[in-house]
Amino acid sequence: MTEAPQDITAKMPILIIEDDAGFADLMASTLEDEGLTSHCAYCGKEALEWLAFSASSLIIIDYTLPDMTGASIIEQMQEMGHTAPFIMVTGRDDSSLAVRMMKTGACDFMLKDTTFLDRLPAVVTRALHEAGTHERLRRAELSLRQSEARLARAQKIARMGSWEWDIASGDIYWSEELYRIFGLTPGNPDKIHLDWVFNLVNPVDRPAFKKALLGSARSCQPFNIIYRINSATEGEIVVNSQGEVERGENGRPRFISGTTLDITARIRAESEIQQLINYDTLTGLPNRNLLHDRLRLAIAQAAREQHLMAVLILDLDRFKRINDTLGHRAGDKLLQAVSQRLLACVRDSDTLARLGGDEFVILLSNVAQEEGISSVAQKILAVLAEPVYVDGHEIYTTASIGIAVYPMDGEDGHVLLKHADLAMYQAKEQDRNNVQFFSREMNIKVLERMILENSMRKAIEREEFFLMYQPQVDARSGRIVGMEALLRWDHPDLGVLLPDKFIYLAEETGMIIPLGEWVIREACRQNKEWQGQGFPPLRVAVNLSGKQFSQQRLDEAVAAILMETGLEPEWLELELTESALMKNVEENIRLLCKLKEMGVSLSIDDFGTGYSSLSYLKHFPISRLKIDRSFVRDITTNPDDAAIAEIIIAMAQTLKLNVTAEGVETRAQMEFLSFHNCVEMQGYLFSRPLRAGAFAELLKNGLKY
Ligand code: C2E
Ligand code: MG
Ligand code: MG
Repeated sequence: MTEAPQDITAKMPILIIEDDAGFADLMASTLEDEGLTSHCAYCGKEALEWLAFSASSLIIIDYTLPDMTGASIIEQMQEMGHTAPFIMVTGRDDSSLAVRMMKTGACDFMLKDTTFLDRLPAVVTRALHEAGTHERLRRAELSLRQSEARLARAQKIARMGSWEWDIASGDIYWSEELYRIFGLTPGNPDKIHLDWVFNLVNPVDRPAFKKALLGSARSCQPFNIIYRINSATEGEIVVNSQGEVERGENGRPRFISGTTLDITARIRAESEIQQLINYDTLTGLPNRNLLHDRLRLAIAQAAREQHLMAVLILDLDRFKRINDTLGHRAGDKLLQAVSQRLLACVRDSDTLARLGGDEFVILLSNVAQEEGISSVAQKILAVLAEPVYVDGHEIYTTASIGIAVYPMDGEDGHVLLKHADLAMYQAKEQDRNNVQFFSREMNIKVLERMILENSMRKAIEREEFFLMYQPQVDARSGRIVGMEALLRWDHPDLGVLLPDKFIYLAEETGMIIPLGEWVIREACRQNKEWQGQGFPPLRVAVNLSGKQFSQQRLDEAVAAILMETGLEPEWLELELTESALMKNVEENIRLLCKLKEMGVSLSIDDFGTGYSSLSYLKHFPISRLKIDRSFVRDITTNPDDAAIAEIIIAMAQTLKLNVTAEGVETRAQMEFLSFHNCVEMQGYLFSRPLRAGAFAELLKNGLKY
């Protein structure tokens, strides 16, 4: 804490400069009686020497000294930096001298008369009091000046100016920094008019600026506005002005004062950040982020104007190969070239964005019909078909395009993008360089697939799969000679699913391997259990998918299962389709031989639907053909089917293969087949596929047909 100025000065001694030593001491003792300390100097030199190292609160000077005049002491004293007030004392009653003394800054003037000592304490006290007040003022002024300077410095650093507008008089004050922000010399012009200020504002932003300022003056509400001005030195800059209204005594707005901040650098940094956030650095196209914004806008517009809006997802075909063979630099250049070409295909109102990698999205707004969308897509494929030259390489690219249309294919941006993406994959699957529209049908298929794919992974553990058994019958005796195990999935939401609903998916996802093994194991286990229960031993046929068949070590897996379940190999038959068999002939033959050596028998399922010639079958170690049910169905009405069935049966006999007819539903079919020496049959006529329990009943009670 600083002490009050009075206290400081009061503690400092009063300097008495008086050549009459006796009179000086008298003055000193008079002051001492008042509690004031003093120091006496008996000539000018002595006084100045003392002042060189000391400070005094007040100086009392006899005007006529032996070595110099009071005036010259004052002058030198002030040169030394002393600001103490002084009282001039003189023996002469000279009013003109008094005036001169007061001009030099004396705070009082005393005549050395008889009442001098009596008056002295009062004069000194008043002078000290005044000096205190003066000092306080001086310090206050100093601190004001300092804080003004500090504010100006702060404004300069912040590029912030302050201003004040006297609404009544129209006077406008600008801080120095405000002039500088506008590229002007501080104080020039000296008089500022409102219109002149308005003219500095960028014409585009001027109406808004006027409205903000004048509106604030009218409503007494603060304002805050960002606008552009033309700085005389820096061209267009962006500033932010904030102002507040001060009311006069009558309650009406009197002043508006505020600040103006140069935010050009901030805006620039922000727009650079915006650029980074919203645009792809490689192509300069909007990125995923901005795309979502644009998509929202495009949907809103399409909804308002009742137009269609299309989302096209474009993916370059085999881009990875270009990247891998020619390098990433070439890949980048290709992407840049492609983005240029795509830009040429769309209107300004459309959006072309890059999602990353070789994936682009085009939003076609305001389209009247789907044909229009399709023709844009075709145009894109055509321009992309032209070769691109990169680093001396001629690159041919093609693209696959998937399209989803608002509102039919989705009403929300994410859904549209997802559907366009699915359509794009469809396009790629069908044939690259292709355009594919999303369709509901496709969506349902895809959804189903997603649901199934997710739930299938857990289905084995949750024991949702089970087998049904369909008897294979010797039609002459009516006895059950075997059974086919047929897979079912008891889906928690969808109910019991037949294999055609999920086998393809299991094959695509690779799930077929564990699932197929489970089927073999379960069929063997069940078969062995029935044997254990005393039923006559029966052959169980298990269907194998092509994928499973080309699996390495299928033979080992089968051997392990037989070991594990204890079923003799002769009671297991594996069913394969022709197409599975014909894929890797050499390998298959080897694998089948191993299985056959183990004692497992093999049959060809759905025979007649594939391309294999009967004679070719000699090469495979198979023991049975199953005539596909499509021939059996019309065997009694369609002579072609009848002929095929007859030939298959006859050929099988020459090749010493067993034959089973599938899908026998009627007595007529059974009789026709029996007549042509097909003994074994399977079909609804005898029994539908049954759960294990029901099948055991059937074994117990025999067939009734
Ligand atoms: P598939 O091997 O030809 O099996 C015979 C299919 O015909 C079975 O259909 C059976 O229910 C049906 N069927 C039997 N008798 C008749 C009949 O008189 N009339 C008609 N219309 N149909 C009859 P399911 O069970 O739906 O099986 C369909 C296909 O799924 C099977 O054809 C087989 O290729 C495959 N599959 C079944 N289980 C498995 C399995 O565990 N693994 C593999 N990879 N595929 C399996
Ligand atoms: Mg089968
Ligand atoms: Mg079949």
